[in-house]
Amino acid sequence: MSERRPLKMDLVKLDEELYCTSCGRRVTYERGVVVFSCPNCGETIIVRCNMCRKHSNEYICPNCGFRGP
Ligand SMILES: [Zn+2]
Ligand SMILES: [Zn+2]
Repeated sequence: MSERRPLKMDLVKLDEELYCTSCGRRVTYERGVVVFSCPNCGETIIVRCNMCRKHSNEYICPNCGFRGP
C-alpha cells in the first residue's frame, strides 16, 4: 500500500481564505497573488495581492514587525 499524499501547497490550506497582508482585501480567488513566509522570522504567512505588488505597498509582519515590499 502506497501512501496517498493530497495535492496542496505547503503554506496555505486550499479551503482557507486569503487576505492581503498590505491592504487587507480578500484575495482568495484573485490572480497574481503571492504567498510567502516572512523573510525575517519565517513564521508568518505574508500575502500580497497584484495591486500591492504593483504599487510596492509595504507589508508588516504581525509576528515580528518586519516591514518590506
Ligand atoms: Zn493588497
Ligand atoms: Zn516576521
